[in-house]
Amino acid sequence: MAGEGRKNERRGTGRKLVPLRGGGAVRQGVVHLVGAGPGDPELLTVKALRLLQSADVIVHDRLAPPAILALASPQARLIDVGKRKSRHTLPQDDINRLLIALAQEGLTVVRLKGGDPFVFGRGGEELLACRAAGVEVHGVPGVTAALAAAAGAGAPLTHRGLAQSVTFVTGHAASGAEPDLDWPALARANHTVVVYMGLSTAPAVAGRLIEAGRAGSTPVLLIENASRPDERRVLTSLIELPSAAQALEGPVLLVIGEVAALADAQGADLQAAAEAAAWRLA
Ligand code: SAH
Repeated sequence: MAGEGRKNERRGTGRKLVPLRGGGAVRQGVVHLVGAGPGDPELLTVKALRLLQSADVIVHDRLAPPAILALASPQARLIDVGKRKSRHTLPQDDINRLLIALAQEGLTVVRLKGGDPFVFGRGGEELLACRAAGVEVHGVPGVTAALAAAAGAGAPLTHRGLAQSVTFVTGHAASGAEPDLDWPALARANHTVVVYMGLSTAPAVAGRLIEAGRAGSTPVLLIENASRPDERRVLTSLIELPSAAQALEGPVLLVIGEVAALADAQGADLQAAAEAAAWRLA
């Protein structure tokens, strides 16, 4: 029915058949912005797995784990757009154009992104570019690095008595010097701050937080390659953060706050953490 057709078009959902040269019909393409999680294939969502298995083409970054790409359908074409900090082999605008062009060929495109596509992942830019080009686009959430790192280390991001709130910030500094963040807000006690892309700016982050009033003794957990076989964790303090950061290469998350002391805590450390949080061990 004509009326139903219009309703579908307005919603932008469903597969539309459009006539193409010579009177044939092709399926319209679609782009799925899919979160791949932090690396462990078991942390993929069921939906991400289904889309990987059914996509015609998968556009991924260089750091996409081979074990996850191996789950793609053998017929799928894999395109590496090789993004890495300060070594983008394909600029963001070109990635946007590529996604649009593939979808306009009628393909089902999975744009696979580390963690969650909309947490420091530039998924928003790809989403808006597709929308502006009239290409059907959907977001599929993924386990963001902060959640995987905290769970893996046994350091809850919020915890009664230790942290009533958590903030995710980027340590990336556009100017190269230091990130532009609300330091007094981040320096509040009993508040967890998770810094993405913060390895190179760790000294500036530590300095600013201490200057804004956060205790130098505040525990800091550094997690490198969370959920991957080569994961490394270092527990340090805000004052020691600059030197501890030098031992790691990345990708690394900084978890700053009282809860960091709970990471892998055993024996006396666990007792001390419990006392700090004023809760009793059974
Ligand atoms: N969209 C991603 C974040 C991309 S920004 C997500 O939701 O997780 C890239 C930064 O994420 C890295 O510099 C690092 O700080 C963090 N990161 C991503 N994967 C990680 C991992 N497996 N272990 C530790 N940090 C990780």
